[in-house]
Amino acid sequence: MDYKKAGQVSNWFFITSIIAIVGTLFFKDPSQRMTQLILFFIGIALIIGGIVVRIIFWRCPKCKKMLTLGYRLEPDKCPRCRASLLSDEEKK
Ligand SMILES: [Zn+2]
Repeated sequence: MDYKKAGQVSNWFFITSIIAIVGTLFFKDPSQRMTQLILFFIGIALIIGGIVVRIIFWRCPKCKKMLTLGYRLEPDKCPRCRASLLSDEEKK
């Protein structure tokens, strides 16, 4: 998985985690406590998944150092080795 794909995947994880956690608000009835709890843990698991993907794959393809974290923050250059992170197609 390249870093751009990793960025998209982790963003997807964060978005779905928000949906899951917001979804818990719709299960207020005591009989739905279990559903609420499961949804909440799914949300937490998705956040952790997103962070893990970022830590493992959100790296410069040249020097393998971690890139800056941030939502949809895709740097043009690696902050460490200054390698251009844009593909040839994007430079045009
Ligand atoms: Zn680099």
